[in-house]
Parts: sequence; C-alpha cells; structure tokens
Amino acid sequence: MHVHKGDTVVVIAGKEKGKRGRVLRLLTEQGRVVVERVNIVKRHTKPTQANPRGGILEKEGSLAISNVALWCGKCAAGRRAKVELRSGQKKRRVCSKCGSLLEST
Ligand SMILES: [Zn+2]
Repeated sequence: MHVHKGDTVVVIAGKEKGKRGRVLRLLTEQGRVVVERVNIVKRHTKPTQANPRGGILEKEGSLAISNVALWCGKCAAGRRAKVELRSGQKKRRVCSKCGSLLEST
C-alpha cells in the first residue's frame, strides 16, 4: 500500500480526477480506498435507529487505490513517496521530488 489512513491524496485517474482529500478507509483486500469528499454516492436507506428518517444518504464510495497518489503540498502535485531513514529516527515518507515530509500526523 502506497497510501495510509489519514494521508492526503489526489485522484489521478477516473471521473474524480484532480480531487483531493484525506484517506478515510483502506479496503486492502479489494485494493480500494475511501477518500473524504471524493466519489460521493447516494444511498437510498431505510430508516434505522441511527438514522430514523431514512431517505437518501450521501456518502463516500471507494475508488481503486491505483487511481490515487500522495499529495505533496509543496509541489502542489501528486507525488511518489520515498522512505527516508536517518540514523536514530523512525522511517518517514518524503516527497520523491522535493524531499518534504509527507507523513500524516
Ligand atoms: Zn514535493
């Protein structure tokens, strides 16, 4: 997996191309990812206890993980991450282009 939960990613392919958001969920087995405010689908739901009125609910659908790239704020572009190892420090992911830190906190 090249993205983690909480990462900011940009959609690089498909109908939502260019949208940005945070990774909400990883569906590792399906190779899919759920990104905040991306690929909103309308679900027609029956009333439940959590949602007593039912009706149309808008929620994020999943998209193929290969369609997203990590967002680098400094480059303002989707970038590959590389893992940087400094002695005595934890591994961290940095932008492959400009070297700025991509780790989500
Ligand atoms: Zn960068």
